[in-house]
Amino acid sequence: MTEVPFVDLAAAHAEVERQVRAGFDRVMAKGAFVQGPDVAGFEREYAHFSGAVHCVGLGNGTDALELALRALFHERGADGPGAATDVVMPANTFVATAEAVVRAGGRPVLVDVDPDDLLIDQDLAAAATGPSTGAIIPVHLYGRLAPMERLLELGPPVLEDAAQSQGAVRDGRGLAGAIAATSFYPGKNLGAYGDAGAVITGSDELARTVRLMRDHGSERKYHHEILGFNSRLDTLQAVVLRAKLRRLDGWNEQRRAAAARYAELLAGIPGLVLPRPAGGEHVWHLYVIRVPRRDEVAARLAELGIRTGIHYPVPVHLQPAFRHLGHGPGDFPVAEAAAGRILSLPMFPQITEEQQRRVADALRKILG
Ligand SMILES: *Cc1c(COP(=O)(O)O)cnc(C)c1O
Repeated sequence: MTEVPFVDLAAAHAEVERQVRAGFDRVMAKGAFVQGPDVAGFEREYAHFSGAVHCVGLGNGTDALELALRALFHERGADGPGAATDVVMPANTFVATAEAVVRAGGRPVLVDVDPDDLLIDQDLAAAATGPSTGAIIPVHLYGRLAPMERLLELGPPVLEDAAQSQGAVRDGRGLAGAIAATSFYPGKNLGAYGDAGAVITGSDELARTVRLMRDHGSERKYHHEILGFNSRLDTLQAVVLRAKLRRLDGWNEQRRAAAARYAELLAGIPGLVLPRPAGGEHVWHLYVIRVPRRDEVAARLAELGIRTGIHYPVPVHLQPAFRHLGHGPGDFPVAEAAAGRILSLPMFPQITEEQQRRVADALRKILG
């Protein structure tokens, strides 16, 4: 019995192999492995894709979040003592969001999520925002943009965690905050062949600061304006990303078709809660259902050759690494309840109807 994989990166590679190999040959022939025209080209193309003025390529998505936040703090003079460095963010996210906040000198102020889509609850975010708030980070988890209309009016700048939402829109609109950070980790909708990330912004000033920070605080070689890092987008990764970006709209469309097919195939299975349909706006990085006895169901699916994931099993406030925030069980009940029931089903552009039927048949057999 062949497995139904959770993601199939080889299938995506097969579609771009020719361009990627030609691009690698070009870079290797020149021996220009850092920065260069492929990085600049990708930045231009990704900014255009995102409807943004600037894209700055970086080493990974966590650095993108950290540098974006540092740039916001820098712009507001908030990197001095006594400045507003609280950062309002959801408890249900990948740990990197909180990590980046702490690394940038901020303090995560966690809020619970909406029980329907598990994205940041705008009312709770508003209640948590005050004079000490330096930024707000909605996380566009699973491929759906979080609601932002109220967040944008609260005052502090909004940094969007767009690692899972490449190509998503909401009410016809794309990224709307001061700056957004994304990740090109291999399994993301736009994935590199290793680590990579970027920030996207309409602000010349923020883009310039992030550009400085990614390259040792320097615009002119050996002249260092600010304290920086080494977090450049790798040139070979830029080659991969340029080849894949041309296919991203089509791949997102295939994900939408797969999500619609899951909705049909899984309808009526007892105990299952399916994600709400979202027309053409969602890019379905993950297809997350909720099931009773989740761990047992996941184990039975694995026995039947079906690979699943959990995004994420432990909310940020219950992670030992964030013990210093002083939270305990019960503080964010929606995120906690969801963490015990969510299950991410196989989802990738090339998933076949037959593979999806096997997932549905297995779930029906286990739960029916
Ligand atoms: C992947 C991801 C990140 C971090 O990206 P890396 O490139 O792995 O550092 C941050 N936030 C979210 C929501 C992610 O899914």
